[in-house]
This record gives sequence, C-alpha cells and structure tokens, in this order.
Amino acid sequence: MHELSLATGLIEQILALAAEHQARRVTRVMVTIGPFSGVVRDSFEFGFNILKQEREMLREAVLDLETPDPVYLCLDCDKVSVIPLARPDDQPESAFKNIGPKKCPWCCLPRLSPKGGTELILNQLEMEERHV
Ligand SMILES: [Zn+2]
Repeated sequence: MHELSLATGLIEQILALAAEHQARRVTRVMVTIGPFSGVVRDSFEFGFNILKQEREMLREAVLDLETPDPVYLCLDCDKVSVIPLARPDDQPESAFKNIGPKKCPWCCLPRLSPKGGTELILNQLEMEERHV
C-alpha cells in the first residue's frame, strides 16, 4: 500500500524534527497533498492514524490535510489556470471526471497539462516543548 509507506516516511520526518526541537509531544501535523500526487487522502489518513499509535510522542497528534486546487498549463496559449476540484458531495458522479484536463479558460482549447501538484509536503508542526 503506497499511502502506508508515505505515512511511514512522514512520521520519520516528524520524529526527526521533534527531536531537533526537543519537543515533548506533537499536537498537530499539517500536510499538503498535491492534486496530482495520486495519494488517496483517506488511506493516507488511515495509515497515519494507525502508525502514530506506536509512537508515544505522536499519539495525540491531529493530522490536517489540505489539497490545493489543481493548476494547469495550456499547451496552446501558454497561460496558466487554476481549475478548482468539484466537491465530491456536490457532484458524486463527476468528482473524478473533474480532475482530468478540461478546457483552457483563456483560449478554450482542451490541451491542458497538469502543472506541479505531485508533492506531499510536511507544512507545519505544532509541538509541546519539553519544560526544563
Ligand atoms: Zn489556452
């Protein structure tokens, strides 16, 4: 399972940062998942929540996931556009269709290429300092 190994990597990264800051525990973890990363949010969250149980320092950590709107580059007019994802609860049937390239809002041609958005980034950590 791809998401589980990503969650493992993330946890290692968090533990290293927490150690560096001499934190007592981590309370919140903010992660950005790119719209073209192919990461399944729910599976990633599920994996993280299982793995964190093994680590005293992370047991209370809340995972905050954010996915920015996808950005496309038009191959015809070279303009960049942001085409927001449909909210799955608004249109359950078209939630997946919407991630495919649509039409360029500038020239109306359909040759759009995904731009970036393949990342999984640890944005921010909230930690409790160890009181000396
Ligand atoms: Zn265009």
